[in-house]
Amino acid sequence: MTVFPLMGEHDYEKLVFCNDNDSGLRAIIAIHDTTLGPALGGIRMLPYATEEEALNDVLRLARGMTYKAAISGVDLGGGKSVVIGDARTDKNPALLRAMGRFIDTMAGEYIAGQDIGTNSHDMAVIRGATRHVSCVNESAGGAGDPSRTTAYGVSCGIRAVLKATNGSDSIGGRHIAIQGLGNVGFALARFCHEAGARLTVTDIYEPVLAKAASELGAEVVGPDEIYDVECDVFSPNSIGAVINDDTIPRLRCPAVAGGANNALAEDRHGDELKAGGIVYGPDFLVNAGGLIRSQEEVNGRATEDFTVYSKVANIYDQTLQVIAMADELGISTARAADWMAEERIAAAKGR
Ligand code: NAD
Repeated sequence: MTVFPLMGEHDYEKLVFCNDNDSGLRAIIAIHDTTLGPALGGIRMLPYATEEEALNDVLRLARGMTYKAAISGVDLGGGKSVVIGDARTDKNPALLRAMGRFIDTMAGEYIAGQDIGTNSHDMAVIRGATRHVSCVNESAGGAGDPSRTTAYGVSCGIRAVLKATNGSDSIGGRHIAIQGLGNVGFALARFCHEAGARLTVTDIYEPVLAKAASELGAEVVGPDEIYDVECDVFSPNSIGAVINDDTIPRLRCPAVAGGANNALAEDRHGDELKAGGIVYGPDFLVNAGGLIRSQEEVNGRATEDFTVYSKVANIYDQTLQVIAMADELGISTARAADWMAEERIAAAKGR
């Protein structure tokens, strides 16, 4: 595996490989760009099959954070970390503290948070070793899990793509197909249900499906069937790369918007959605709610108040702006969003 060409391709600033034999920690911290501020991004813990898979994931996710902050007007840079291991069996306080010590060596250049495989209680353990961590659980004095704020932002993105495809931004009476009912997906399902939507949902974890059916009246389909559901919006909220060569021809919806990071397998899949007449709410724009809240947390401000939610609500206008720009230029919304984010960073660099 050759690292520098990978870093050079998208101008990554720094990669830190972390090893601790005592706790079994093997992790990679990636800093993509700190032009706008210190790099903030979650710690993802997954049993990656290879080191290469872990490296590719952390690089892609770190870059996504740069773009997310830039397009959202947040003064933070982009970073991310991955821990190689199974969160259910390999995660323990010693491993988390070791991770915290590595984060601390970066002296605030990287600020950690929760992601898949980690939670706000883990962040409290990490805070024992470093103060450069967000999303610490409320009982330990932190702001806690940002997922509900993220889900609210995704619901704003969904309203925007509905507006673009139907002329009305009302979720009431619309059919939303939700893939993944984890922290973001379930909160999103609840927002949509409370707004009067009809829901079809899927997950690979059976208990959340039963809960969604009983509490939200959701129809449940198998993990692979969700792509074939005729609906108003398909909302990916689980793993990345679900919009790909296999799934695009199956989609029976006029719009896609969800919380999942890197939902497009490749940039060209954004072009293919556009060619197929499907309006795409770019992932790093519609899922920026948690990051917007994290900025408040990092700056020591309240995180669940009206100010935060009104900032997150801007995702609606921004998504409509990106859709309008993409239409005007004849490009995909994903490329329009990239361009807007890159413009802000270039302006900050004085280019
Ligand atoms: P989570 O781990 O709580 O939930 C993910 C859910 O997806 C789980 O219920 C899991 O069982 C399910 N899942 C996994 N593979 C699946 C598959 N093949 N088909 C259907 N379901 C599957 O994670 P989360 O915090 O809800 O995050 C979801 C996505 O949103 C991730 O891509 C994450 O990076 C992104 N995101 C999260 C936040 C946040 O605030 N939590 C912010 C921005 C982006």
